[in-house]
Amino acid sequence: MAARPCLSFSRRLRVAARPRWFSCARPVQADVTHAVVGAGVVGLAVARQLAAREGTSTILLERHDAPGTETSSRNSEVIHAGLYYGRDSLKTSLCIRGKEMMYDLCARQGIPHINTKKWIVAQTEEQWAAAQRVHAHAQDIGVPTRLVGREEAQHREPDVQALAGIVESPTTGIVDSHSLMTYLQGDFEDRGGDCAFLTRVTDIEALNGGRDGYRITAQSGSGGGETTSIVAETLINSAGNFACAINNMVLPDDRHRTPYYAKGTYFSYAASRPKTSVLVYPATLPGHGGLGTHLTLDMGGRLRFGPDVEWVDSADDLTPSPDRLQQALGEIRAYLPGVDTDAIALDYCGIRPKLGRGGAVNSGTGFQDFIIQEEDGFPGFVNLLGIESPGLTSSLAIAERVEGILHGSRQP
Ligand SMILES: Cc1cc2nc3c(=O)[nH]c(=O)nc-3n(C[C@H](O)[C@H](O)[C@H](O)COP(=O)(O)OP(=O)(O)OC[C@H]3O[C@@H](n4cnc5c(N)ncnc54)[C@H](O)[C@@H]3O)c2cc1C
Repeated sequence: MAARPCLSFSRRLRVAARPRWFSCARPVQADVTHAVVGAGVVGLAVARQLAAREGTSTILLERHDAPGTETSSRNSEVIHAGLYYGRDSLKTSLCIRGKEMMYDLCARQGIPHINTKKWIVAQTEEQWAAAQRVHAHAQDIGVPTRLVGREEAQHREPDVQALAGIVESPTTGIVDSHSLMTYLQGDFEDRGGDCAFLTRVTDIEALNGGRDGYRITAQSGSGGGETTSIVAETLINSAGNFACAINNMVLPDDRHRTPYYAKGTYFSYAASRPKTSVLVYPATLPGHGGLGTHLTLDMGGRLRFGPDVEWVDSADDLTPSPDRLQQALGEIRAYLPGVDTDAIALDYCGIRPKLGRGGAVNSGTGFQDFIIQEEDGFPGFVNLLGIESPGLTSSLAIAERVEGILHGSRQP
């Protein structure tokens, strides 16, 4: 995605935000109303939402030279239905609301997307029991799902194998995440917001416990350039895999967080057959750290497989893991027996921002919900932690929620 011409942090502020430079005089005057750290899809959505408020100014701080170059461009681009998480979880409410907002925005703004639908396929009785639990849970929380019979399955997707049964999610789809982020950035700027690219936040001071705002220090430029500070009345931490580091800059030691990283490797598929028009997910058993090595489609209808789950020590560990291929092949062959294994190759990977080594599905032990909260004792500091899947789907609803936390508007 092409970045707009990038001015330095300080220059951007002089140009676009309220140009009241921080000086030693008291009381401290804020330079901007809202500072959002991180221009992934969530930070972009949040910044755009806040920029619509009358009489405010919003700056979006991003260390890279373009938006969405980390997790937001390393995922499956699936608009999730909201099937998997507990009834009262943020993941459920924000995914369902976010999905509706996403389809609506994409339709209105011509952002490429397809309501592909998704099949959860079971090969064994144990997997079928798991798939039926998903179906029952979906009915319970009001997300549409239906069972697909053998005949219908054979007619619609003859290449897909499901020995024990299929649950269909009719509201699942895919979105071109890059087009979405380009739109969000453009709309944010049209609303008067300001992007500061090549701006790495290195330190944050809560002034008078945040009551006088947050002094944000950042390094501008690619090679560690000029260091500058601004003061923001409110601070939104949307730094993805590095959100714990931002958290730890603001909060005292006993509230520091440790990040965990679950890498997922994707595999490309070069052959034109077999083919499907729906997304295919194996039914996953409890405790799995992802949703299984599934089959998704890109906007051109090309198949891709993944991601798997591999715990790693660094968020920069972005080399696809070759030894994962053999394991993934077994999972893929189970639901797509005609797959040409010679046409499968390592593609890319993404890293899930985790707050512990727990599972990613359903409620119960090991479940970690999104954390989206104004931190106690730090007014105006909103933390977004553990924004893993379904973060892309939920992004517009997360933005609404952050605005609600800061300004008391409607929350989903
Ligand atoms: C393998 C995988 C598959 C997924 N599939 C799906 C899916 O199909 N559907 C779905 O809904 N969700 C999916 N997700 C989840 C989704 O991709 C994420 O929830 C979403 O992209 C998170 O966006 P973000 O803006 O929070 O984080 P990011 O995209 O990681 O953005 C954070 C930004 O903060 C910036 N930053 C960090 N530190 C600093 C700093 N100190 N100073 C300035 N900037 C900083 C980074 O450079 C980065 O650009 C998937 C995730 C993974 C890993």
